[in-house]
Amino acid sequence: MTDFTPMGALDATQVPRFAGRGTFARVPEIRDVSDYDIALLGVPFDGGTSYRPGARFGPMGIRQASRHLRPRFHVDLDVAPLEQVQVVDAGDVPCTPYDTTSALRSIEGFARDVAGNRNRRIVALGGDHTVALPLLRAAHQQHGPIALVHFDAHLDTWDTYFDAPTTHGTVFRRAAEEGLLAQDKSIHLGIRGPIYDRLDLVEDAKLGFRVIRAGDLDVLGIDGAADAVRRRVGDAPVYVSVDIDVLDPAFAPGTGTPEMGGFTGRELLHLLRRLQGLNMIGGDVVETAPAYDHAEITCLAAATVAFDLVTLMSKTHSGPTPGGTGQ
Ligand code: MN
Ligand code: MN
Repeated sequence: MTDFTPMGALDATQVPRFAGRGTFARVPEIRDVSDYDIALLGVPFDGGTSYRPGARFGPMGIRQASRHLRPRFHVDLDVAPLEQVQVVDAGDVPCTPYDTTSALRSIEGFARDVAGNRNRRIVALGGDHTVALPLLRAAHQQHGPIALVHFDAHLDTWDTYFDAPTTHGTVFRRAAEEGLLAQDKSIHLGIRGPIYDRLDLVEDAKLGFRVIRAGDLDVLGIDGAADAVRRRVGDAPVYVSVDIDVLDPAFAPGTGTPEMGGFTGRELLHLLRRLQGLNMIGGDVVETAPAYDHAEITCLAAATVAFDLVTLMSKTHSGPTPGGTGQ
């Protein structure tokens, strides 16, 4: 059994990273362990896309790029996450590509099953941003009102688009309307680019969101932005949603609605790592569309962000699951 680390991940000193199983960072599949603390969950739905489609292929693209990770030790967060908690790959949600309502029901149900009754956490791999809505519904059922920390070029709080209420550009208005979000605890980071109307900003503020625009980072600095997030969310349960288009197209070309002037990869990672210690109960990395990617730039960015979310969660988790070792 020397091919496996204590918690069931493949040991890269025994099996090279380009070989072996195709789960996220080569962690065990959900069926290989008796219990688990954090599950990666693929959500291959992109029926809410407004411009370039293709994020349905995100989960497998991110998994492929995640082979490159060295998950045994996270240098910047100074922890061996896979020894703190049992991490598994729960596979992909089976959902229809033809009916948004039905797909969202499937995603919510699957997420509830994976989370179960105990304090398990999910890091979802999208899929377009529509998938955040059923994931927030499942998280709300488990934790109550949630503080949303939302990294994105776009607000995603339109009312409707082509009369459709549930699209990747409307999900957080729906979440606010449904009472999934804690009052005055949510924040968007990285917002930029053109909008259809100034009212978009006014209505977003009315829904209770705060905004740190991409350009604000130059003034606030990373520590200032992280402090603002901390003050905003307090000790509420936090869901971190990362639309990979928060990165500049230079750092994430493989996405549906790229916008100039975004964060660099280093800025995003630095910001995420400064969120250490928050009560992070769930998260996602969405809008990775491998067909527009080059040399796995975007898929690697998404994989790295997902691994950082797992690692941040591992630091606030109560400890390893008894008997949860891999086979
Ligand atoms: Mn988005
Ligand atoms: Mn976006």
